[in-house]
Amino acid sequence: MGRITFIGAAGVVTGSKHLLETDSGARVLLDCGLYQGAPKLTERNWDPPPVDPQSLDAVILSHAHLDHCGYLPALVKQGFHKPIYCTPATAEVAELVLRDSGGLQEDEAARAKKHPDRGLHATPLYTCDDVEKVVPLFANVAYGEMRSDIKGCSFRMSDAGHILGSAISEIFFDQRKLVFSGDIGRYGRPLLRDPSPIAQADVVVCESTYGDRLHPANDPQLDLGAIIKAAHERGGVLVIPSFAVGRTQEILYAIGQLQAASSIPNVPIYVDSPMGIAADAIMERHPEAMRFDLRARFGAGDQNIGARGVTLVQSQQDSIKLNDLQSNAVIIASSGMATGGRVLHHLRNRLGRPNDTMCFVGFQSPGTLGQQLLQGQKSVRIFGVAVAVQAHIDQIDGFSAHGDRNELLRWFGGFTDKPKTFLVHGDPDAAASLAAALRQTGGFDANAAVIGETVEI
Ligand SMILES: [Zn+2]
Repeated sequence: MGRITFIGAAGVVTGSKHLLETDSGARVLLDCGLYQGAPKLTERNWDPPPVDPQSLDAVILSHAHLDHCGYLPALVKQGFHKPIYCTPATAEVAELVLRDSGGLQEDEAARAKKHPDRGLHATPLYTCDDVEKVVPLFANVAYGEMRSDIKGCSFRMSDAGHILGSAISEIFFDQRKLVFSGDIGRYGRPLLRDPSPIAQADVVVCESTYGDRLHPANDPQLDLGAIIKAAHERGGVLVIPSFAVGRTQEILYAIGQLQAASSIPNVPIYVDSPMGIAADAIMERHPEAMRFDLRARFGAGDQNIGARGVTLVQSQQDSIKLNDLQSNAVIIASSGMATGGRVLHHLRNRLGRPNDTMCFVGFQSPGTLGQQLLQGQKSVRIFGVAVAVQAHIDQIDGFSAHGDRNELLRWFGGFTDKPKTFLVHGDPDAAASLAAALRQTGGFDANAAVIGETVEI
């Protein structure tokens, strides 16, 4: 037997952290994520650690999104020095995003010193130096490999189909089996594989982000083609704010497919994101985490995921030069919600141009610049300056990396037994709605997890 305590991402979507304790003495943290979003959530990142970091035997990490891995440098800073088990692709992507996060934490602390009245933290949660102490702790686990490194339990990982390297973990201890889903991806996507079905478990801890919602049925590639054509006909430049890891690569792949089918005009593409360019290369190095081998299909060293006419923009100087483009170009830049990064410069420069188009390709959190633009605001503030909005604002919904309600139910359909199920990583309505569906139609003993609660498993 054992116990699981939900110390994060219960009743909310971020801050994924769950403590597994077994009778045989293992103490394992499942994910170690940051709280993100509204200040009342992010403030929790500064609470004392929810578990004594030195008491842990290991972290099992599902994937490299910050809401699953972003607290790791803080955990290490506070004394954790044991292995962090994850797939090789997750280790590489996590290194990339944690370095970026360390820089952002330092930037916020610098801003706090400049503007003490804004209520920011003058001491960073962690620094870039703290991130470097995490990197040697990553311990690679190949998909399908059974590992017994943790005293008193063994485990294996299989593809969750959510982002590059994402994993579902099956953990065996004291004649029991726990399945931890991490985030479950989509079915039938072009680059990533479908979520792996799991047949048996005693207990499941599963996410429920889209537990009460369905994605639109449109093909996002067709939507993207229509938007590129319309932007071209308007005679201006198309800017796509995009998450650097995952989404940028999906957009490039879709553009390559549209080019191959001659469905879009011949438009130069600029990827203005050093992190996105690094993520392209990681994807190329990990065919084991992909639906197909990018190198075999597009040739070694092709970092454009099959798209043609692509310029990878590394330096800030070259990024600034893109301001001179008047027409016939697509610029892909991060961040995806226009909350920071190079895309802010493009938006400041181009929102006032009526012939230009801005197309958002992911969920926009309330309060972000992306959401303000999608709501039709005619004036927004960027770098503290009011910018009039005259450009065309567009959106594509279908690129989400999260399985929707039907896809989550489809994944649960892989179980031949009916394990006791705890739903985490979802707003209360989403978790309750999915739990009800699992109870009523699937016969699962399913409930939303409660923050701070310890349950015997
Ligand atoms: Zn995720």
